[in-house]
Amino acid sequence: MEANSQIGRAESHILHTYNRYPIVLDYGEGVYLYDTEGKKYLDFAAGIAVQALGYGNREYQEALKGQIDKLMHTSNLYYNQPTIEAAEKICAASGLDRVFFTNSGTEAIEGAIKAAKKYAYAKDGRTDHEIIAMEHSFHGRSLGALAVTGNAHYREPFEPLPGIVKFAEYNNLESVKRLVNGKTCAIILETVQGEGGIYPAEEDFLRGVKEICGQEDILMILDEIQCGMGRTGHMFAWQKYGVKPDIMACAKALGCGVPVGAFVMAEHVAKASLKPGDHGTTYGGNPFVGAAVSKVFDIFEGQKILKHVREISECLTRQLEQMREEYGVVKERRGLGLMQGLELEASVPAGEVSAKALEQGLILITAGNNVLRFVPPLVIEKQHVDEMAGKLRAVLGQY
Ligand SMILES: *Cc1c(COP(=O)(O)O)cnc(C)c1O
Repeated sequence: MEANSQIGRAESHILHTYNRYPIVLDYGEGVYLYDTEGKKYLDFAAGIAVQALGYGNREYQEALKGQIDKLMHTSNLYYNQPTIEAAEKICAASGLDRVFFTNSGTEAIEGAIKAAKKYAYAKDGRTDHEIIAMEHSFHGRSLGALAVTGNAHYREPFEPLPGIVKFAEYNNLESVKRLVNGKTCAIILETVQGEGGIYPAEEDFLRGVKEICGQEDILMILDEIQCGMGRTGHMFAWQKYGVKPDIMACAKALGCGVPVGAFVMAEHVAKASLKPGDHGTTYGGNPFVGAAVSKVFDIFEGQKILKHVREISECLTRQLEQMREEYGVVKERRGLGLMQGLELEASVPAGEVSAKALEQGLILITAGNNVLRFVPPLVIEKQHVDEMAGKLRAVLGQY
C-alpha cells in the first residue's frame, strides 16, 4: 500500500505526540531497514539504541519463537525459568545482586526511585526525603521519572511532579555538594547523558558522587538505559570508570526489541528497601521477555560484542573527527564507543540534517536541537561506518 495513505491513516487515529519522519518501515536485515516502497536505509539509530544486534539475528529469533510456542506469560505469582536465567546473567555481568524486571525504561526509573525512598524511610521514618538529579538529564515520561528529568520543556505542563527534586550541574561536583543535606536519599544520573546531547560523565565527577553517597549513606542511581548493554564498549558504562552504583536502571537494548527494562540493586539496598507488597507489575519479567534478555546475554558473549564495539568505535570516532575538521558547521564530537554525537552550529537544525540524511538512505536521530546522535546497532562493520560517512558528507556539504 502507498506510504502516503498509510501515513494518512496513522495521522487520523494515532495520538499526535511525535512528528514522525514520512516513511513506513517494513522489515530489517542486518543493519539495514526497508520501507514499504522498497527503499533501503542504513540504520544508525537502532530504534533509539535498542536493536543492538541489528535485525534478523537467527539465534535470537529462534529463541523467541521457541518461547512463544511454550509460554508467553504467567504473572509474577509464579516462577519461570527464562526470567530466572535472565536475572542471573544481569547479576553476573554487573556484580549487582537483585533484579526487578519492568516493561520500559521509565518504569525502571520509577522502581529505582521507590527503592531509594523506601530505603531512606526505613532508616528514619520521614517522608520528606530529597533526590538530587542533573540538569539536561532524561529519565523517562512517567510522572516520577519526569520529576528527575532536567528539561523544563518536558516537565512544566505536568507540574507539580512527585517528590522533592533538586537539580545539579552535570560534571560539576561542587554543584552537587551544595545540594546535599540530611534529607538527601538519592543522587540519580546517566553515566553518559543521551537525550541531553551525548555528554559522558567525567571520571572525577562520577567518583566524587560515589564518595559523597558512601559518606552520607545516600544511594547512587545510575541510569544505564541508553548507555548500558555494551554501547560504550563495556557491558555497563560505569564499568569503564570502576564506579559501581547502588541501583542501576536498564532498558532499551536489554531485550534488543522486546519491551523490557530492569532496576538492579546491591544486596544492602535490597535488604533494606522494597519488601513483598511494596512494588509489582503484571507483565514485568514474563517468560517471553526473560527468554529475550537471557539470549541477548548469550549472544553478546558468543559474538564477543564488547570487543567488537571497542574496535569498531575507533572507526566511527575517526570518521566523525574528520567530518568535524572538514565542515565548519560541525562544532564538536563527543561520546564513548558507539554512543556518539556531533554538535552542530546553532544555525543548523539537527532535525533538518537528519531529515536530509533520510533522503540519502541514512537513518540518524538527534539529541536536543543541535546534536546528531550516532547509536547504531553494535554489530556494524567498518564498511557501514564508511557508508554512513559518505551519506552524511553529502548532506553536510549542503551547508
Ligand atoms: C530512553 C531512556 C529512558 C526512558 O526509557 P523508556 O523505555 O522510553 O521509558 C530513560 N532514561 C534514559 C537515559 C533513556 O535514554
